[in-house]
Amino acid sequence: MKEQSKKYYYNLQLEEVERIKASGKRPALLMHTCCAVCACYPIGYLAEVFDLTLFYYNDNIYPESEYEKRYQELRRYVDIYNNNSGNDVKLIKCPYNGKEYMQKMLPYKDSPEGGERCTVCFDLRMDKGMQYAEENHYDYFTTVMTVSRQKDSKKLNQIGEQLQKKYPGVKYFYSDFKKNGGLEKGAELVKQYDIYRQNYCGCVYSYNEMLQRAKADYKQASE
Ligand code: SF4
Repeated sequence: MKEQSKKYYYNLQLEEVERIKASGKRPALLMHTCCAVCACYPIGYLAEVFDLTLFYYNDNIYPESEYEKRYQELRRYVDIYNNNSGNDVKLIKCPYNGKEYMQKMLPYKDSPEGGERCTVCFDLRMDKGMQYAEENHYDYFTTVMTVSRQKDSKKLNQIGEQLQKKYPGVKYFYSDFKKNGGLEKGAELVKQYDIYRQNYCGCVYSYNEMLQRAKADYKQASE
């Protein structure tokens, strides 16, 4: 596969948006969404162009109570956004199956955050979303995760590119939502609406890493 720069995918995002605007159509886009913090800015950006549906499929999140908490916060933000904008962004919640996710991820338990573990985790969640998008006749699929500084947007777009071959009935929407001030606009919305900001990515491995960090900070502070 030809290696592309991060900017390349952002340019594809802009070109696609311009094409859609010029067509005068409003295609249906399904966006894999992990939490309100990541979603708040892309929702407004995309809902101007697309008939937008969010797909909350995140078996990675540990424990299940956290899965519920992040969902409820997303639901709250979508309601705020719809009320303020008059748009009708929809939200689909998938049943939680953390056990199955853990079984699939066991071979990668020693991989650090940002490594192979995360690539597999991205792929699992995006594959499910792309499959749903194809089965339910959406025009496009994308993931909100390119907005995050902690996640490799190039890797995410490469996975999307591969999935487009597996699910040819739906077009992958390339993105880098953090560009052009996306990150900062998201941070403003988080502040404005007091959106719950979690302190670990999601899986039990990142949860344990967060606890280790907290223990080390505590130890340092008490020395
Ligand atoms: S750190 Fe985040 S992206 Fe990586 S495996 Fe865990 S939940 Fe998935």
